Amino acid sequence: MSHKQPTLYIVVPCYNEEAVLAETAKQLSAKLQELVQKKQIHSDSKIMFVNDGSKDQTWSKICDLHKKNSDIVGISLSRNRGHQNALLAGLMTAKTRADSVISMDADLQDDINVIDQMLEKYQDDAEIVYGVRSSRQKDSWFKRTTAEGFYKFMKLMGVDVIFNHADYRLTSRKVLDELEKYQEVNLFLRGIFPLIGFKTEVVYYERKERFAGESKYPLTKMLSFAWDGISSFSVRPLRIIAILGVIMTFISAIILLYSLIVNILGNTVQGWTFTVCSIWLVGGLQTLFIGIIGEYIGKIYNETKARPRYCVSEDLQKQESDAK
Ligand code: UDP
Ligand code: MG
Repeated sequence: MSHKQPTLYIVVPCYNEEAVLAETAKQLSAKLQELVQKKQIHSDSKIMFVNDGSKDQTWSKICDLHKKNSDIVGISLSRNRGHQNALLAGLMTAKTRADSVISMDADLQDDINVIDQMLEKYQDDAEIVYGVRSSRQKDSWFKRTTAEGFYKFMKLMGVDVIFNHADYRLTSRKVLDELEKYQEVNLFLRGIFPLIGFKTEVVYYERKERFAGESKYPLTKMLSFAWDGISSFSVRPLRIIAILGVIMTFISAIILLYSLIVNILGNTVQGWTFTVCSIWLVGGLQTLFIGIIGEYIGKIYNETKARPRYCVSEDLQKQESDAK
């Protein structure tokens, strides 16, 4: 099944982006026109800027752009809610008007020329197409190392993320309808999409430098984002505590044996054996007990999320009756 000229929305969250907006709008609009001309997308396609409570002229610039160019639309949030929430707001608004939605940052660090490929994969029935950075040569050494470390650490902590994929992706309306069912407050979208499933594809591109303005993700924000990702997707840290507890209790048995031998050989101070053994045993047991409590908290945590447990991707009967 291939989609006939889908209506595409490009959703762009913007926080204090007055320096980049005009250029971004120009390039994206040219791209949109090119795709319409090539009949790859429907002429109703739009670029949707999401103003995330900016403190500068971002919103009035978006309004101006909209007046001059009908390709451009915008929504504005009541206050700054952060990148992920702004993106969600844009995706949820766009999904009622579009067949497929591409999300990208305002700074054009993501190569807009891979949109063609994303659309091709979408035509080949992919429901999610992830944009993956093939290299980060243009990022500073620091940004590159911390960012790549972040993906590796996430994997280690049991969070399923696509390596070097940020929030540049195409999603079909079907996927966004599923996303709507995820009611979590601590949003980490790039962890949720792999959970949703469906047929997915990947396109590669080189990440460029920000052409104007400053990064809105300083180290502190990146760290808290990383921790949100782990703590909203994984109870593995709790499991690690429980395992540590078992290991420490086990070590305490070895220490007991060792200190008994030293004691029998007679070269210890009075009371040493008892002290050493208690420290290890009590420490080990405490850690183990905290770990066990943690396991239960982990269960509560997963239950309170009340995430959908499955999603039916196809229903032959329904398709038949719909066809009638
Ligand atoms: N952003 C947002 N709200 C925020 C912070 C950032 O909407 O509170 C947007 C920002 O305007 C940009 C995107 O999120 O379009 C990514 O930010 P940035 O490019 O500064 O991050 P970096 O690429 O440096 O990681
Ligand atoms: Mg950026």
